[in-house]
Amino acid sequence: MKKIKNYINGEFLESSTKNKIDNINPATGKIISTFPRSNHNDIALAVNVAKKSFLSWKNLSTKERAGYLIKLGEEIKKNANELAAAETIDTGKPIQLSKKMDISRSSKNLIYFGNAIIHNSSEFHKMDNNTFNYTLRQPVGVVGCIAPWNLPLYLLTWKIAPALATGNTVIAKPSELTPYTAYLLSKICKKINLPKGVLNIIYGLGSEAGEALVLHKDVPIITFTGGTETGKKIMKNSARNLKKISLELGGKNPNIIFDDADINLAVDISIKSSFLNQGQICLCGSRIYVQKNIYKKFKIKFLRKVKKLTVGDPEDINTDLGAMISKDHFRKVMGFIEKAKQEGASIIQGGNSVSNDGKLKGGFFIEPTVIEDADINSEINQKEIFGPIVSLNYFDNEEDVINSANNTNYGLSASIFTNDLNRAHRVANLIDAGTIWINTWLLRDLRVPFGGMKHSGIGREGGIDSLQFFTESKNVCVKYE
Ligand code: NAD
Repeated sequence: MKKIKNYINGEFLESSTKNKIDNINPATGKIISTFPRSNHNDIALAVNVAKKSFLSWKNLSTKERAGYLIKLGEEIKKNANELAAAETIDTGKPIQLSKKMDISRSSKNLIYFGNAIIHNSSEFHKMDNNTFNYTLRQPVGVVGCIAPWNLPLYLLTWKIAPALATGNTVIAKPSELTPYTAYLLSKICKKINLPKGVLNIIYGLGSEAGEALVLHKDVPIITFTGGTETGKKIMKNSARNLKKISLELGGKNPNIIFDDADINLAVDISIKSSFLNQGQICLCGSRIYVQKNIYKKFKIKFLRKVKKLTVGDPEDINTDLGAMISKDHFRKVMGFIEKAKQEGASIIQGGNSVSNDGKLKGGFFIEPTVIEDADINSEINQKEIFGPIVSLNYFDNEEDVINSANNTNYGLSASIFTNDLNRAHRVANLIDAGTIWINTWLLRDLRVPFGGMKHSGIGREGGIDSLQFFTESKNVCVKYE
């Protein structure tokens, strides 16, 4: 069994309490590793060393800092097989997905921000009368990076990379459900001789280690990806020390399919957006709206493909859906299916847990599930389920579907399927969401702003938005004779 340790000042340490937490493989229900149950003392230690390392890291040349990030990214690429296998046993996600999406993107995050910082620039504003302004962008200090379990290394590196690139030092707090790839990352940091104290990784519970990080007075900036309710707590706790915060939260995203769309494309993409990673992606399209006159045709084609999806061993390259992240989450998702039935909706496909024999006997598996006739205000169409559950709905016209799409507290993303150019742009303009995809889904360019409206978050990350978030802008006004 693997023993994960905190990574502080370039050393591997147990927590000050010596307490450990078991890490479970959700596909088997078996313990695969233990990790430290860290508390405020461990956070304080890490903050101390991150503060000490700040000046020398910030004063390194941009090229040298970028070099470390690019090296980390390259090492992730070299170790992709080991990292993907670790991600799969930690999360229960299919191995192909870990390779193609999680680990590949983790490497890209580091390489992208390593290059982005080299090509970064800042503003210059000329005034009349021999006066001009220029903007300095300076690192903020010690950054707290808090990540969720659904894309563990992918989202951790999405935060660490720009924070380090801009000259900050970092305390990273991975999810207590998926600590393992962060530990492998710390080993890679050691291998490439990343300067000590620049990146520190602390494991533990959100309510203990996470909260201590957010409350620490010497951590002036927090970037958080996770659930909306946790985001609200983080905002409240950050307010005590007036911290800079970025919150990337939940979603309840619509897929909107007009009658002029390429129906086969819409079906194929909707299969992915409904069930990829067992529906445990914040960007999943969990509400499908199809124009009335093609609804039946779409439904037949969609269900035919859902029936072909395989649920099973995440380590098998042919598996489409692996396990749910934990027993608690499995129960929560099954509870939503029960609630949908009680609210009068119809389960037209799936709806059951999946039992297995052999090594997967203790795993948490659910069938891909399609629900019809759910009321627009029902839980199934309002709450973020974060599981392999999608609702099928129909609409009459543009106005009707825009109202339905916007009828949730969330505003993270939406996908629109149409071949009418004017309609595509018109509807994109009217949907309340931070990302709109047209005839596609989950296509990500790391330069674009990423984030959500309403209860899906505060602020944007990605490209220049990340580089700005992790820096303080300073205006210098110059008058010359
Ligand atoms: P979560 O909010 O339970 O936990 C996220 C992280 O916050 C974990 O590391 C946890 O330990 C920590 N945490 C928990 N309580 C804390 C506290 N009081 N103070 C500080 N840290 C605390 O979320 P989760 O269940 O891990 O992730 C699933 C959620 O994340 C979903 O809602 C999903 O939509 C969202 N998500 C959003 C995005 C996005 O980019 N918008 C991406 C991925 C996931």
